[in-house]
Order: sequence, then structure tokens, then C-alpha cells
Amino acid sequence: MHKRQIHISLPATGEEEWQAVREPIMSGWLTQGPKVAEFEAQFAKAHDVKHALAVTSCTTGLHLALAAMGVGEGDEVIVPAFTWVATANVVLYCGATPVFADVDPMTFNMDADDVVGKITEKTKAIIPVHLFGLCADMDAIRKVIPPHVKIIEDAACAAGASYQGKKAGGLGDAGVFSFHPRKSITTGEGGMITTNDDALFEQMNMMRNHGASISEEQRHKGAHPYLLPAFNLLGFNYRMTDLQGAVGLVQLAKLESFISERANWAAWYRDQLADVAWLRLPDEPAGGRHAWQAFTTWVEPERAPMPRNDIMDALQQRGIATRPGTHAVHMLGLYRDRFGIRADDFPAAKACDAHTMAIPLHNRMTADDYAYVVECIKGIAS
Ligand SMILES: *Cc1c(COP(=O)(O)O)cnc(C)c1O
Repeated sequence: MHKRQIHISLPATGEEEWQAVREPIMSGWLTQGPKVAEFEAQFAKAHDVKHALAVTSCTTGLHLALAAMGVGEGDEVIVPAFTWVATANVVLYCGATPVFADVDPMTFNMDADDVVGKITEKTKAIIPVHLFGLCADMDAIRKVIPPHVKIIEDAACAAGASYQGKKAGGLGDAGVFSFHPRKSITTGEGGMITTNDDALFEQMNMMRNHGASISEEQRHKGAHPYLLPAFNLLGFNYRMTDLQGAVGLVQLAKLESFISERANWAAWYRDQLADVAWLRLPDEPAGGRHAWQAFTTWVEPERAPMPRNDIMDALQQRGIATRPGTHAVHMLGLYRDRFGIRADDFPAAKACDAHTMAIPLHNRMTADDYAYVVECIKGIAS
């Protein structure tokens, strides 16, 4: 019998994605062009927003959104302390200061009560994260921030998620998604910004392309060969390639089935693991839809038969990959040293860092794989 190997995540790509890249390769239109435009239109439609802008990653998308909003030196941006490091890094890219807020250990998302004390005159924006595919409590956050503070959703994990009947990506001034292979739909690397704000869209559109006033595609099709675009602002090259756009279109068409399959297995995990007293399981939100980018559990430190890391090692030995949900960013060397933050300044984020454990949930797993994961977790106690 060969040893079972269950990855924490594995992108569900195959023949259709392979075929999709043929067209741009044969036509020679490789960078942002018709495939990206179609991907943007379909993505906007699927998330009930006016505009979608493809970029090279969620990280560059978050940077672009902040830059286009004019966030810079002297400004503060509130971010959760438990998230992927990129959520805070993008604030530093702008020369602004990230201000951490603690999270709710039950949802792993930004705690609106803790945001209250973090607002100052310098607060320019806030980046709630929809961690693991569960939308942050946007109503609670909106209630505690002044109306001029811009809201950017870090929706890296939340393609297809919704909150109180509204889709992620349309819950703030802008939303930013990731298509890294660890997320539910992928383009290798890639991201998408969504917004209903026309002026912000125009600004981001220019700044994505070096600050050029018209796109390459428009220039290519234009009547006057001597006309170069105007460059009136500092931009970046954050364009997605058409190869990625083509793959993204195929993946996006599968998003609904990917999520419903994940939701079914998440429910199955909850049912099967309900009697494992030392493991807290993530739930479906009331009034919304979890996108199940990851199934992140909480190992109860007082009840578990051994420390979380030993449990993770034991599962690894049986071929099951697990990961901490994500990290407490305020404890990472860069932030700890630069801002003199202590681990205990954000106790919930610190606890999430220590006790969360994501177990395999993705669209390449079989029923046998899921049963094996459950069997091995239940075997831990004995
Ligand atoms: C994955 C992730 C990012 C970064 O996405 P990239 O596309 O890899 O840049 C940012 N924030 C969160 C919460 C993530 O999970």
C-alpha cells in the first residue's frame, strides 16, 4: 500500500485551462488584452460590482487601491493583527503606518470593538480581511469608523463569498481578491480589484499601467500612431497577462461548483468531527456565505491530548498536511522591531497564531481522502 499524501491545498486546473492558454499564445497577444477584459467583466458580474480591474496579485492590488486613494506618508491604515503579512506590508509600501486591531478568535476576523481605540485624526483607511473565505463583520466595522475613512476589503480568500446577502468585493470602497494557487480559483499569480466608484476606478486603471492616460490596447487600436498617452501621475506596471486572463475565465466559470463542493465537505467535516472535544470547527455564517478558502480549526489548548504542533506533526507523519491558519503579523520581526510591539498587545491574534490549524479542504480531494483525514484526527486522542 502506498502512503497517502493529502495536500493542504491543490489547485483544480487541468485540460480546460491548458486549452485556454492556446488562443493568446497563437495570436501573440500575451499581455493585458481581450482575455483580461473579458475576465474583468465576468468577475464584476459574478460579484455584483460596477468595475473589476485585474492585477498581478492581491498584494499589488491592495497597494494600487491605497495609492489611488492617496494614502501616503503621515497617514494611518488600520489592519487586523491576524492576517497574511501582505495586508500590512502594502501600507508600508505607501509610506503610511499600519495600525493593528485585534481579531475575534471565534471568526478570526477584525474585531470592531478593538478598532474603536485605534482611530485617530490620521486614519485614512481600514482594511478588513475576509479571512479563509468568511466575510468580516462589515456592519459592525462601518458603525465605529468615521465616514471619511476608506474601506478596502482584503478579499484574497473570498471570491464568491457574501455578507448579509451582499457579495464580497462590493462591501467597501474597493475589494481586492487573490488568484494565488492557495485560493479557490487561480491564475498562477494574479489578483482583482472591485469597486463601484467610477473615479477611483479611473485612477486605479491609469496607475496600474504606469500612470498612462490610455491603455496599450486603446493605443494599439487608435487612429494616430504618433499619439502617446499622457503621464500625469506616478503609476506602476501591475497588469495581468492575457495568458492568466484566459485561465481565470475558465476558473471563474467553476467558482460556484468549487464553493458548493467545499461547503458540502465542510459540513461533512463538522458532522464527522463534532465529537472531537478538543477541536473547534468553523461554521457557516448567519445571513451570508462562507467561500471556504480554508477549513481552519482551533485546537483547544486545555483539552487537546497534546500540543497543537505535535498534533500537526502526527498528522504529517500520516501524510496529511496541515498549517497554522495564518500568522500574527504584529509578532513578525519586521513589525515587532520597527514599531516596538509586544506579542501580548494583541492577545487574540497571538492565540490564533498558536492554536489555529487548517486541515485539507480543496477541489482535488476524494471522499476517501476526507474519510482518511477524519480517521487520523480521531486517532490522535488514543
Ligand atoms: C493570499 C493572501 C494575500 C496575498 O495574495 P497574493 O495574491 O499572493 O498577493 C493577502 N491577504 C490575504 C488575507 C491572503 O490570504
